[in-house]
Amino acid sequence: MLGDKLFQAAIFVDRDGTIIEDLHYPREPQKVTLIPNAVEGLRLMKEKGYLIFIVSNQSGVGRGLISDAEFSQVHERVCSLLQQSGIKIDGFRYCFHHPEDKCLCRKPGIELIPTSFNQQPLDWAESFAVGDKLCDVELANNLKATGCLVLTGKGQQSLTDLKTKIGYTKVQVFSDLLEMARWIPEKHTKTR
Ligand SMILES: [Mg+2]
Ligand SMILES: [Zn+2]
Repeated sequence: MLGDKLFQAAIFVDRDGTIIEDLHYPREPQKVTLIPNAVEGLRLMKEKGYLIFIVSNQSGVGRGLISDAEFSQVHERVCSLLQQSGIKIDGFRYCFHHPEDKCLCRKPGIELIPTSFNQQPLDWAESFAVGDKLCDVELANNLKATGCLVLTGKGQQSLTDLKTKIGYTKVQVFSDLLEMARWIPEKHTKTR
């Protein structure tokens, strides 16, 4: 109907420790490797009808540990690995700030998160944020989306932290992105 808005579901996916192996301030593109099942998981998420945004804190840039050129080379390497696998990412969002900058875009801040795509609003209740750290599930909390923790990267440590430090009840825990992708429902844009 005229005037109806299409609401789209999105998944905000962390990069380091979730899609690629965590290199700890990654600056060497040749060392970038995909985590097993990451590509398969992203592919299934797309097949199920979700937009995918990669959202990553890269404070190594703000700390002066990663140069702009090194950051770009690592980013290009990630893009080419995903392209070779036939994965289309709908957007990349990076925060380069040092934590002490107290910016609003460093996860779990939501400043970088798009609220629409192709002029169609995102449906937070149907969306997810996933990663290997607590800031990733806290991002979901701040978006009123569903938070998912994967046990790749620093995920095992984060699971311990999750149990001891914060009383989240809504976090879903998965071994990797593929296990999460199998769990999420099929999604198709809907009008409201
Ligand atoms: Mg991570
Ligand atoms: Zn920032």
